[in-house]
Amino acid sequence: MLRETWAEVSLNRIRENMLRIRKSLPYSVKLMAVVKANGYGHGDIESAAAAERAGADYLAVAYIEEALRLRGAGMKLPILVLTPIRPEHVQLALELDLTLTVTGARWFAEMRAYKPYASAGKLRVHVKMDTGLGRIGIRAKTEWDELVPWLRAKDIEVDGFYTHFATAGEADTTFLEQQAARFMEMKQWGRASRLAIRHYHCAGSAAALRFPHLAMDMVRIGAAMYGYYPEKLVHSIKLEPALSLHSRLIHVKKLARGEYLGYNNSYRADEDEWIGTVPIGYADGWTQRMQGTDVLIEGRRAPIVGKICMDQLMIKLPGPCAEGALVTFIGTQGEQRITFSELAAHIGSVAQEISTSIGVRVERTYTDTEEVYARWNNPTKPNDIKPNVNRPAVSKSIAGKQAAI
Ligand SMILES: *Cc1c(COP(=O)(O)O)cnc(C)c1O
Repeated sequence: MLRETWAEVSLNRIRENMLRIRKSLPYSVKLMAVVKANGYGHGDIESAAAAERAGADYLAVAYIEEALRLRGAGMKLPILVLTPIRPEHVQLALELDLTLTVTGARWFAEMRAYKPYASAGKLRVHVKMDTGLGRIGIRAKTEWDELVPWLRAKDIEVDGFYTHFATAGEADTTFLEQQAARFMEMKQWGRASRLAIRHYHCAGSAAALRFPHLAMDMVRIGAAMYGYYPEKLVHSIKLEPALSLHSRLIHVKKLARGEYLGYNNSYRADEDEWIGTVPIGYADGWTQRMQGTDVLIEGRRAPIVGKICMDQLMIKLPGPCAEGALVTFIGTQGEQRITFSELAAHIGSVAQEISTSIGVRVERTYTDTEEVYARWNNPTKPNDIKPNVNRPAVSKSIAGKQAAI
């Protein structure tokens, strides 16, 4: 590591979180590990490996490129692509053995130009229903009725039928109950069609932890796998964040009372004070919304002062600290702890916005990897992944397909 700013990810925490979630649900419920957005910033391949080790049945990503990376690394689990793909990419999806989200008849009509009825390969799909999130999916019975004939084709396998909740993390459950009731109605459409639909599912992390009776055939676990969940609303299970974020002081100086620091003279010293500079900035995801938060140094809290720059920021030190001292942005030092929930509350968002914003310049290092990698079965490069070593290269044949996208 050349630069002293890094995110430390415990793969065993991810594995342990998944095991706890599995234990909290009926045994027949399948576990889908959501590793989109580079595994919520934790590393997609590493997180997928940890989830697989915990017995995940499925993986999910948002986009086809993300699935390509997982297949390139030798991931064998079924992968659901949560966002509809363009019809012309259907052959690529078949080659990669992906499961696709579909939301209507028009997609099928266009897709048929790229996968004629007589062609080889069964296309596995999950139909997405919009029960109130208003993002993607079928809302009306007429849309479903138009879609059904396309789903009856011999080369189509309807592996799933699902929806997503808008308010699963909120204390007020009124809207969630409405969505659940709507999904139950829609499920009857599915049943009545006599299609062999294999999995009905509706719960993401918060719903799966709070309302196990909504788990149905499968739950889609993203946030909770990394340790983020509505802690105030879930008491039956305890999960731990897998990621911590650290850096080191690169410069220490004394600022005299009345002197300025930062762009636009954004801070003025009230007294003679010690200032430390840390090599992390908004280009690394520590955006100016983090103004007003603390970091940890020598086991104590220290506030960020002045505007956060692109590559560096300044903190007010509790005293004359040594250059090279560890600075923790997320995680624990001694008795002190800075949590994702604290930071998320400060920026008015959720933990996963912070973890996914940690930029590509910040190296991810992995701890507790042995348990996970012991079972890693990458057919091309068996022992390629080691702690703190870059992830394996995508195999040539699959890398070539990148050009097709
Ligand atoms: C991202 C996503 C999930 C995972 O949600 P979490 O709250 O992070 O568990 C589940 N389902 C869909 C459709 C998603 O887009």
